[in-house]
Amino acid sequence: MQIKKAEYFISSPEVAKCPKPDRPEYAFIGRSNVGKSSLINMLCNNQKLAKTSAQPGKTQSINHFNIDSTQKEKGPVTKWYLVDLPGYGYAKRSQSDRNRWEQMIEGYLRKRENLVMMFVLIDARHTPQENDLEFVNQLGEWQVPFSLVFTKADKEKPGVVQCNVKAFLDAMRETWQFLPQSFVSSAIKKDGRDEILKLISD
Ligand code: GDP
Repeated sequence: MQIKKAEYFISSPEVAKCPKPDRPEYAFIGRSNVGKSSLINMLCNNQKLAKTSAQPGKTQSINHFNIDSTQKEKGPVTKWYLVDLPGYGYAKRSQSDRNRWEQMIEGYLRKRENLVMMFVLIDARHTPQENDLEFVNQLGEWQVPFSLVFTKADKEKPGVVQCNVKAFLDAMRETWQFLPQSFVSSAIKKDGRDEILKLISD
């Protein structure tokens, strides 16, 4: 699958304000600066879609994008939503911002009935980070289906990337019986794009 058309739709401060849940949606999340905007832009073939932000952790809302919408009599009809969620682990965020983020994300993850899958982005250059493991364990508790995307692979030697991926999955094995699907990506080389889009189209 290739995405032919991707357009920003709406930003919502909470799940109750999100668009009607009448079509499938796929959401992306990860630590601030993990490369989420770059990955979304790469998947959508549109370098300007999600802002590649110089100020990590700034966007604090649930951002919906219309994917492959077609014009119908009553207005545009989109095939599916791509959702850009604000990241976690931004050190400079205030406690009240953190609490707000937690409430918003918990509400979204537990209540969004049309959420098909989350993509959790992990920086492929690092050994397993506590907040990434905590986040995936939380998804497990809430029974939210997810895949892992190890980002920025071009910035490290392939052997190091492989080692970090294995270490993360090994750390998950301590609590998980079945491991999620995982991808290795590079927004520069466009690695991982076909595999991720294939999962969505399947
Ligand atoms: P976000 O905060 O998670 O949305 O991260 P961004 O997409 O804004 O990326 C943060 C920084 O990492 C930016 O300077 C990007 O250019 C860079 N970056 C993101 N993905 C890649 C990648 O796959 N390869 C390389 N070399 N740099 C990347």
